[in-house]
Parts: sequence; structure tokens; C-alpha cells
Amino acid sequence: MQTQLFIDGRFVPSLSGETLATLNPHDNSVIADVSMANHADIDRAVAAAKAAFPKWSNLAAAERGRLLLKLADAIEANADRLAHLESIDTGHPIRDTRYLDVPRTAATFRYFGGMADKFEGSVIPVEQGFLNYLTREPVGIVGQVVPWNFPLMFTSWKMAPALAAGNCVIMKPAELTPLSSLAIAELMAEVGFPAGVVNILPGLGHVAGQYIAEHPEIGKVAFTGSTAVGRKIVQASSGNLKKVQLELGGKGANIVFGDANVDAVVQGSAFGIFHNQGQACIAASRMIVHESIADEVLEKFVALARTIRIGDPLDPTTEMGPLTSRQHRDRVLSYVDVAREQGGRVIAGGRSPDNAALANGCYVEPTIVEAKPTDRVSQEEVFGPFMTVTTFSTDEEALAIANGTEYGLGAGLWTRDLQRAHRVAREIHSGMVWVNCYKRVSPGSPFGGVGASGYGREMGFEAMREYTQAKSVWVNVDAQIPPYFPR
Ligand code: NAD
Repeated sequence: MQTQLFIDGRFVPSLSGETLATLNPHDNSVIADVSMANHADIDRAVAAAKAAFPKWSNLAAAERGRLLLKLADAIEANADRLAHLESIDTGHPIRDTRYLDVPRTAATFRYFGGMADKFEGSVIPVEQGFLNYLTREPVGIVGQVVPWNFPLMFTSWKMAPALAAGNCVIMKPAELTPLSSLAIAELMAEVGFPAGVVNILPGLGHVAGQYIAEHPEIGKVAFTGSTAVGRKIVQASSGNLKKVQLELGGKGANIVFGDANVDAVVQGSAFGIFHNQGQACIAASRMIVHESIADEVLEKFVALARTIRIGDPLDPTTEMGPLTSRQHRDRVLSYVDVAREQGGRVIAGGRSPDNAALANGCYVEPTIVEAKPTDRVSQEEVFGPFMTVTTFSTDEEALAIANGTEYGLGAGLWTRDLQRAHRVAREIHSGMVWVNCYKRVSPGSPFGGVGASGYGREMGFEAMREYTQAKSVWVNVDAQIPPYFPR
């Protein structure tokens, strides 16, 4: 297990010698003390990235791609070890880390490995006699600050397009979950990424994260995290007018129309809100269900929620693990009181499980709360296994409720009516819409939000545009330009 900063191709202690303990949320035992980066460490990493950039950005794109493809293979070869590390550090059930997070991480590195030499410039049809072409150039040194909810997957979402495009990277994982990104750094060194191209520095958000956002030699900062910190990133990045990309919070609407397939709704919505203990920006956290089928949907949904197997993430039969920290568990549970204060009715869960074996862990039962659309629990991101339910009677009312928060990341709808599906998808204010499914993601499909959910897109060709800048080149091939100052 790597626990030191990864700078210039080597694992090194922080200059200050400071460390931060990372805990196992199953029982709050210490897994390891991890080096904690400060300003001076980040300066060292920036210097290494700066030295590596000319060669890396001029390497044939296919060569950069080849390294990303080798990394994808190495991730698959180390799947069991990576899944175990991710499960103990985050609390995600091993069945998810092994069969979702690790394969998705490899798939994303592989997708962008293939992309590296297929992302083309263009020729613009300007007036005769001129050739005007567009190239896409890497930004340079890119800072990436990520949260703790999918730390392994986010290494690939963030680093793969940045590297494919020829940038060098300074990444700061969340203080709660640094281990899987350091393991990826180790694999990168093994497969031959040149020193300095990738630097991974665990550290505190308001210290290391803030400094990355401020740093005058970093040309872009890509951030995934809360809306509140996103605002700070924008302010901190203004000194050198960095390019900023923000993947922020969400409050996913999940509209169930009266003609929906109830069994599909129940399964899809349970995945939408309870996968990863609800710690997903795109969680289906607000069910908005037509009054004609609300009783049937809720009866089946609550019955399923009550049978979800909660337990040790390393047990392969576990379906829901602990939340990632004690502090976060307490925050999630505090929303149960917030709901009740505003007249909400707790239909299921709302507490930690009554199980002595889990007493030291950060566990919360699947929680379902009936609430008004304007209640705080329907407006604020809880980021846990916590779903609100509201009923509606007309399509317009459903849309107004769905669009009635400051967020706009992901939303879903369930109906058998084709026209309604497309109409509502068009009218929903969000970056992603799922019809008769929820929370589908793919390396090729743009991911991101609108409003308080941020701006910019990860994945696909959109991500390559985010990590490059257009350069327009004009060439006079055989144009006769009349003199502007005839003499
Ligand atoms: P957070 O905003 O507290 O922290 C995210 C990262 O920012 C961490 O690495 C943290 O150390 C760092 N940070 C904290 N303060 C900072 C500062 N002042 N300057 C720079 N960096 C700072 O978020 P979190 O609690 O770790 O994660 C949960 C949040 O992330 C939720 O709001 C969730 O919706 C969001 N999220 C969004 C997406 C998306 O793609 N839209 C995906 C996953 C999570």
C-alpha cells in the first residue's frame, strides 16, 4: 500500500513530514497514515510537471494512448487488490468495487487511450486563397481536485482525458480516501508513464486544494465536489484566469408517471438512490410519483429497501456498506430531524442499523421520507441513502417539482408514453436525463450539469475539448490581398 506523495515519478514523504490517518468506515480503525501535501510539495510537483510537459505534449498521440491502454490492462490485472483497497477506504461493498468501480476505471482509461490519436482538428471553409485550420492544444499543467465518493473511478474520469490530450496532472484526492489513487500512481510508474507527467498529492482541501486552485502556473483546475467548495475554486482560480471545470452537487429528480412499469421503477430507483449508500452526485434522491400509482410503488419500494443487506463491505453478499465517514453519517442522520421539523414523515429507516457487529461503523439504514417539494430535505443535497417522496397529478406539476431546485445534474423519468418521455426529457433542466432507467454512465457519454451542479463535461469528445484549447491558423495559399495602405 502506497502512503506517500507521488511526485516526479517517485513516492516521497511530504516536506513537512505531516501525515493524516485514513480510516476504515466499517469500524473506524486506522488503515494507514498518509503523507499530507502542503504548498511546498505542490510547488515541487508543479516544477516536475513543467519539466515533463514539453516532451509529453509532443509525444505522438498514439504513444500517449498506448500508455493509457497499458494502464487499463494493469488495472484489470490488479482488480482484486484495487477493489479491496477501495472497499476498506470508502466502505463501498466489494461486489460494487470489484464489478463496477474497477472495470469502469479500466474502461475509462481504455476509452481515452483509444481516443488520444483520434481527436482531430479541422479545416474551416474561409474565403478563397486561404487555408484556415484549427488545432487543439493541451492546456499545460492541470490541477484536479476530487471527492471521496468514487475515488478510484475519478482518477480515470479526470486523468484519462487530460493525459490523452497531452497535459500534465497535479491531482489531489480527498483527505478521507487517498489510497486507491496512490495505487493507480504506482501502476502508472510500472507501465512507464514518464516522471512528472502525473503527480498525486493527498492533502487538506482548504490548504492543498485551495493552493492548486490558486497556483499561477497551473492552467486549468477540474473540480468534483460540493457546490460550496466549487464557488471557492472559482474565486481562487481568478488570479491567473484559469480554465475551470466544475462537477458539483445534485438533487436528482426521479419522475414516475402513472403508466410506468412499477417493478422496473422499484429496481431502477433503488439502484438510483441506494447504490454506494446514496453517496452519488447523480443519486435519485427525489421520487416524484403520480398519485394514481404512488401507493403501489411505495409499498414495493419500501419492502425492497427493508431487505437490503447492510454489512461489512468485504462480505461479498453485502449490498450496502457504511457511509464514508462518521461525520458524514451524522450529517445524513441529522436530516431526519430536519425532515420531521418541517412535517415530513419517515416511511422507512432514519437511523443506524440495530446490529452490534456494525456499531462502530458509519452505517445508515435505507431511508425514505415523505416531504413537500419546498422542504429542506427536498432542496438540499443529503448525499446518503435518503430519498424523499412527493406525489403529483399533472405532467406540468411533475416538471415544476423536478425543476424546482437550484441543481441540474441528472434526472430520470419512467413512462411507456414515447411522446411524453421525449417532451419531459426536453423540458427537464439538467445535464443528463435517463428514461426508464437511472444513473447510466459510459466513458463516451458526456457527464456534467447545469445551474448549481456546475459547468463543463467529463467523458467523450466533450472531455477532450475541456482539456484542450483551440488554435486557429491562417495561411495565405494564393490569395491576392489588396493593399490596405496603397501608396
Ligand atoms: P467537498 O467539496 O467537500 O470536497 C471535494 C474536494 O475538494 C476534496 O478533495 C476536498 O479536500 C477539496 N476541498 C475542500 N475545500 C477546498 C477548498 N477550499 N479549495 C479547494 N479544494 C477544497 O465535497 P465532498 O464532501 O468531498 O464530496 C461530496 C460532494 O461532491 C457532493 O456535493 C457531491 O454531489 C459532489 N460530487 C459531484 C460529482 C459530479 O460529478 N457532479 C460527483 C461526485 C461528487
